[in-house]
Amino acid sequence: MTVRTISVLGATGSIGASTLDLIRRDRAAWRVVALTANGNALALAQLAIEFAAEVAVVAEETALPALREALAGTGIAAAAGEAALIEAAARGADLTVAAIVGCAGLAPTMAAIEQGKTVALANKEALVSAGEVMTAAVLRSGATLLPVDSEHNAIFQCLAGNDMADVRWITLTASGGPFRDWPLERLAHATPAEAVKHPNWSMGAKISVDSATMMNKGLEYIEAFHLFPVGIERLRIIVHPQSVVHSMVEYRDGSTLAQLGPSDMRVPIASALAWPRRMDTPCAPLDLAAIGELTFRAPDEVRFPATRLAREAAHAGGAIPAVLNAANEVAVAAFLAGKLAFTSIAAQVEASLGRYAPPAPASLADVIAVDAEARARTLELLEPA
Ligand code: NAD
Ligand code: MG
Repeated sequence: MTVRTISVLGATGSIGASTLDLIRRDRAAWRVVALTANGNALALAQLAIEFAAEVAVVAEETALPALREALAGTGIAAAAGEAALIEAAARGADLTVAAIVGCAGLAPTMAAIEQGKTVALANKEALVSAGEVMTAAVLRSGATLLPVDSEHNAIFQCLAGNDMADVRWITLTASGGPFRDWPLERLAHATPAEAVKHPNWSMGAKISVDSATMMNKGLEYIEAFHLFPVGIERLRIIVHPQSVVHSMVEYRDGSTLAQLGPSDMRVPIASALAWPRRMDTPCAPLDLAAIGELTFRAPDEVRFPATRLAREAAHAGGAIPAVLNAANEVAVAAFLAGKLAFTSIAAQVEASLGRYAPPAPASLADVIAVDAEARARTLELLEPA
C-alpha cells in the first residue's frame, strides 16, 4: 500500500474533524503534513500530536505562544499568521483538504492549488469569491479539484462517465434549513440559537446560518456554476426536506442520476479521500424503508430571498459574487453577535450589492481587495459611524 500525504486546512472545524475521523480509522494509509486552525491552539496541538503532523499553524498570531508551549518537545513545528498558513498549504501534500470557513480560506486554498496536486474543496466561499481566478489556477497548475460539499460531490459522482454536453439539468437539493416551514412574520424574530440547530446536519455556525437563510444554497449555486460548466441556465434548486438525495443530474435522454446517502459529511469526504476508488466509512447505511418518503418542492424566494440574490450575482459574474459573499459573511457575523435580525441578513446583502459593483478581478490580489472593500462597506452600512 502506498502512503499518501495529507494536509487539513481548518482541522479543528466540523469538516476538519470529520476528515480526521476517517484518517484515524485508516492511520497507516496517511502521513499528515500540515494541520491549521484559527485561534484554538490547544485543540490544534492535540490533533497535531495525535496525527504526528509536520507542522501546526494558527491564523491568529496571539495564539502562537500557547501553540508553541503545547507542542514543546514534540518535534512538530509551530507557526502563526497568514503567511505561515499559505506556506503550510504550499507544502504540496498529495491531498489538501480546504476546510477553512469563509473567504479567509482563499489564499491558502489557492496556494494548495498552485502545487498541482489534489485539493478536496469544502471552503465554498473561496470558490464563490474567486470564481474564474480559481478555476484558471486549477487549469494552469494541473491540480485536481474534488468537491466535498455534499451536493457538488453528488453531482461529481453523477457526472462520472458522462459528457457534460449531454446534461439537461443539474438540480441542487436543499433541506430548506430549520426555518423551512416558518411564516415570514416569525422569521424576523429567529434567534442565533434557533438558526444553528439544523434539522439534518451538524455543521459550523456560519454554514448553519447560511442554511437557515438559504444563502448556503445560493453560494452552492455559484459553486456549481464554476465546478460544472454546463451553462447557468441548466442549474436549478429544489427543496428536499429529508436530505437523502444529495443532488441530481438529468441527461438529454430523460435519464436522471441521483446520489443518495446518509446526512453525514464523512460520506462525501470519504469519496474525495479515496477517489477514484472507494473506502469504508462508519456511517449508518441508508435505511430507505425507515425513511419512508422522499419529498420535493419548489423553493420559496419570498421568505428566502438569498437564492435569488445569489442567482443574480452568478448571472452578473465578475466581482459581484465576491461582494455577495463578503456582505453575507459580515451580516451573518452580526446576526450571530445578536446585532442584526435574521431577515435583515439578506436585506443587508442586497443593500451592499446595490452600492458596490467593482470591475471583475483578474488576480488573487484583486479578489482579496474586493472582499476587503465589500466587508468594510457592509460594516459601515451596519454600524454607521
Ligand atoms: P467550522 O466553523 O466548524 O470550522 C472552520 C475551520 O476554519 C476551523 O478549523 C477554524 O479554526 C478555521 N478558521 C476559521 N476562521 C479562520 C480564519 N480567519 N483563518 C484561518 N482559519 C480559520 O466550519 P465547517 O462547518 O467545518 O465549514 C468549513 C467549510 O466547509 C465552510 O466553507 C463550509 O461552508 C464548508 N462546508 C461545511 C459543511 C459541514 O457540514 N460542516 C458542509 C459543506 C461545506
Ligand atoms: Mg452543501
